[in-house]
Formats: sequence, structure tokens, C-alpha cells
Amino acid sequence: MIADAAAGGVWIAIIGVNLLPSVLLLTVLSADRFAAGGWRLLSRALPALAAGFVAAWLVLGRPYAPDTSLQTLLACLPLMFGYQFALSVVTWRLGRRIARQNRELERATRTDSASDLPNRRHFDARAAHAFKLYQRSGRQVALLLIDIDRFKTTNDRYGHGMGDVVVRRVGQVLRSTATGDDVPARFGGDEFALLLAPADRERARSIAERVRAEISRLVFEAEPGLSCTVSIGLADTRGTHAALTDWIRDADAALYRAKAAGRNRVEGS
Ligand code: GH3
Ligand code: MG
Repeated sequence: MIADAAAGGVWIAIIGVNLLPSVLLLTVLSADRFAAGGWRLLSRALPALAAGFVAAWLVLGRPYAPDTSLQTLLACLPLMFGYQFALSVVTWRLGRRIARQNRELERATRTDSASDLPNRRHFDARAAHAFKLYQRSGRQVALLLIDIDRFKTTNDRYGHGMGDVVVRRVGQVLRSTATGDDVPARFGGDEFALLLAPADRERARSIAERVRAEISRLVFEAEPGLSCTVSIGLADTRGTHAALTDWIRDADAALYRAKAAGRNRVEGS
């Protein structure tokens, strides 16, 4: 690109610094270099252009014909229009690509790749928002904390790879259960969460039961002997919850009771 800039300088000398094409060449060459390599490339290309110009200008006997004829002006028009238009197309494409990559990046930072569910960080933000809404408007929301039963045994018996398949399938059940503003998430390890918004006690209870039953019916083709159950702690929002953590603690306590009561069950609210 630097050699090309030098050739541009030679060209300007050949046309005797004819004003319009010379300015056009200078503009196009500078803009191109800057687009490709910023100030660094431009600061190297411009001296090369100047050197090419001076050398050729001296060799050719300092030709100087700055007046631009109508014919030359007309000949410059396609480049003036074409270059501007090409720049706009490139800028537009670049903008679209950046927007798409930003969307993908945002999705990646809020998704747990193993289960393809929103991750804990994203869930916390959504739960905080739902809790605030409840405090402000009284819109009932419910939280399910879901933990796979005896998952260590599953890993030991069928291998970690099969355990990963179980995590993915549980994720699928939660994703297909969530509707509207509900947020399914991987809480971490073998623990999942489902934020139901809005949800009165009845809806929360029936969805929790449905999730529990659906997971217990999962069939794994590669391991027909494998079955999976979950315990679920359920908590709806209450006036006694001063902060989001109180609400989550209630769900956690309910989950603990479900485990203690024998697993594969729903406890809470
Ligand atoms: P409990 O019924 O009391 O929950 O028993 P548990 O065996 O499930 O106990 P716990 O919840 O403490 O153990 C979770 C285990 O899940 C520990 C860890 O090895 C396993 N685990 C966590 N995340 C993954 C994962 O992404 N893939 C696999 N294969 N295993 C995981
Ligand atoms: Mg577990």
C-alpha cells in the first residue's frame, strides 16, 4: 500500500498537478490507507506519495497544468461517485457485522454452554429485576430451585460424559417449560433454577410438579438403565422478604427439606 501511494504520487506528477484528479487521487489514497492501517499506515504512505511525486515531477521537467477541463471533470465523476458509494457499502456491512458479533458475545456471556441455559449471573440480574417489580407493584413471582438427585452416583456409575448428557436434558425440560417472562437457568453444578413471572402459588406448584414428573420420565437411549430425578424447592415472594437473598434462601431451605424428605419431590410455598 505504501508502494501504491508512491505510484499515486508519480501519477500526480504525470498529469502536471491537474487540480481535480490530483485532489481526488490524494483523497482516495489517504482514505484507503487510513481505513486499512490508521494513522500509522497513513504517516508512512504520505511521505512515499510525496517522494514519488517529487522524483517524477523533477524527471519530467516540472510539468504544471492545474486547470481542470470539463472533459477531465466528467472523467473523474465515476470515481468520485463510485468511491464514496463503495465506502458507504463497506461501512454499512461492517456495522452489521459488529452488531451481529455483539449480539453473539452478549448471548455467550449470559449463557451456560453445557446446558445452553442462561447462567447464574444473568439469572441473578433477572431475579433482582423481578423482585423489585414485586416490591413496587405486587406482581407475584415464584422461584424454583432444582437439584439433581444423587448425581454423584450417576457420574460414578455411567461416567461423567453421561452426566453431562443428563445436565443437557434437564436444561431442555426447563427451557421447554418456561413461557413468557419465565427465566430458566443453570445455577451451578447440578443445580438449576426457574423463575416464574408472573406466578401465583397454584401456577408455581403445578409447574414444579410438572418439571419434576417430566424429568423423572426422561429416557436415555445410550443408557436404558439410567433414570434421573430432581428435588425442587419452591418459594413465592412474600411481604417478609426484605431482600432478594431472603427469597432465594427460602427456596434453598425448601430444597433442603425436599432432599431430607426422600428426594424426587417438591417442597415449599
Ligand atoms: P443430592 O441428591 O444430595 O443432591 O446428591 P448429589 O450426589 O447430587 O450431591 P451433590 O448435589 O452435592 O453433587 C453434585 C455433583 O454433581 C458433584 C459433581 O461432580 C457433579 N456435577 C456438577 N456439575 C456437573 C456437570 O456439569 N457434569 C457432570 N457430569 N457432573 C457434574
Ligand atoms: Mg445433587
